[in-house]
Amino acid sequence: MSDVKNKDKLGLFRRLPQMMKEALYPEDITCDVCGEELVADTRYRLCARCTENMPFVAEHICLNCGVSIDNEADYCDRCQNNPSFFKLCRAPLLYDGKARDMVYGFKFSGKKYLAHTLGAMMADTYIKNNMQGEIIVPVPMSHKDLKKRGFNQAELLAYEVGKRLNIPVLPALVKVKDTSAQKELSGKERSQNLEKAFEVVFPQVKDRKILLIDDIFTTGATANECAKALLKAKCKEVSVLTACITKLKPLME
Ligand SMILES: [Zn+2]
Ligand SMILES: [Zn+2]
Repeated sequence: MSDVKNKDKLGLFRRLPQMMKEALYPEDITCDVCGEELVADTRYRLCARCTENMPFVAEHICLNCGVSIDNEADYCDRCQNNPSFFKLCRAPLLYDGKARDMVYGFKFSGKKYLAHTLGAMMADTYIKNNMQGEIIVPVPMSHKDLKKRGFNQAELLAYEVGKRLNIPVLPALVKVKDTSAQKELSGKERSQNLEKAFEVVFPQVKDRKILLIDDIFTTGATANECAKALLKAKCKEVSVLTACITKLKPLME
């Protein structure tokens, strides 16, 4: 009997180094982008290499849309001649390289877990930019698009951000017009196509500061139309937070 006990003790001693290693360095935590095992959990659950290659928005940004600007101007070319209905937009990432892969995987390859990483980055951007929101509203999808994809990526991000910032999420907007093939249109055509595409279905937005959430800010036409609908429903103001913003086109292109 005592022999068995001693054997057990020995086994425990032998397993101890492994057990300590597991406690210090939990297994099964992998980089959300490349899948490499992480020695410890990181803020965005990314490995050092993926973090380094992530196209974060630079320090100097357009005061309106939040895109990186490489000169001293306060506003980017995109915003200078286009007044917007929203107060400002901010995004942690430029829509490029690894960030583009991540959003693509999230939207089209069923990697819904990426909402965790993107949502954490978005919440940090909100805090860093001193943004203000009392209610989070995700950009809606049309009924047809939602049926096709099965989920609304903006809504998943909205809940991730809301959870982290402790702000309630209210799907107050619905998309009443199908605007597919938006991609092929120019900025101006996009706005025309989106006219009256959104409607507010929850009057609770009245007198509230709204934080509108989407995955990508491209021309700003969608954010603008949503903000217009929310302001029509008498909300106080609309700020926009997206995971990515498309880079400005180089002047020589
Ligand atoms: Zn990685
Ligand atoms: Zn801008």
